[in-house]
Amino acid sequence: MAPRMVEVVPLNISDKDLMSAVATEITRIFSFPCRVGVAERLPAELLDERRGQYHATRILEHLAVSDRTSFRLLGVTTLDIFTPILRYVFGEAMLEGRAALVSTYRLSTAPPGDDFPSNRSVFVSRVLKECIHELGHTFGLTHCDDPACVMAASLDMTHIDAKSTQLCYYCKIMLKDELNKN
Ligand SMILES: [Zn+2]
Ligand SMILES: [Zn+2]
Repeated sequence: MAPRMVEVVPLNISDKDLMSAVATEITRIFSFPCRVGVAERLPAELLDERRGQYHATRILEHLAVSDRTSFRLLGVTTLDIFTPILRYVFGEAMLEGRAALVSTYRLSTAPPGDDFPSNRSVFVSRVLKECIHELGHTFGLTHCDDPACVMAASLDMTHIDAKSTQLCYYCKIMLKDELNKN
């Protein structure tokens, strides 16, 4: 059985500080050990040449069958990703599955009136929220109605900026139940 360790997989991304911030936050929220794994470059066949974007679902499948030993794999990439029904996505995950994915590509847009992207902390906080959110799906959590909860659905940047990296009381209980099932 794979060790109950979460692995952050850097995919076409070189920001080491960001990767370790993600790993630290994952351990804080989910109480699992988390490490930053070996970086990789995505195979060219995962690129949709017509759209100039990478296919999120196929990246998840690529991660899920990898011979990495951790029980959860979270890919983080700077590449622009999409699913067939959406123009782009911030992230994607297998519900109760092994793999999750977050793209930083669209997370560096300035909030109105802000001097972003010079404001790195806003960017980092968005990435952390999306990583916790997508990983939450792999542990069986679904979308939450509490706009401050990290499991709230984020259709645009205002939604992401409005929420915290924290699970609400209800989602924490759901997570505990899900983890006790396995
Ligand atoms: Zn979601
Ligand atoms: Zn919640």
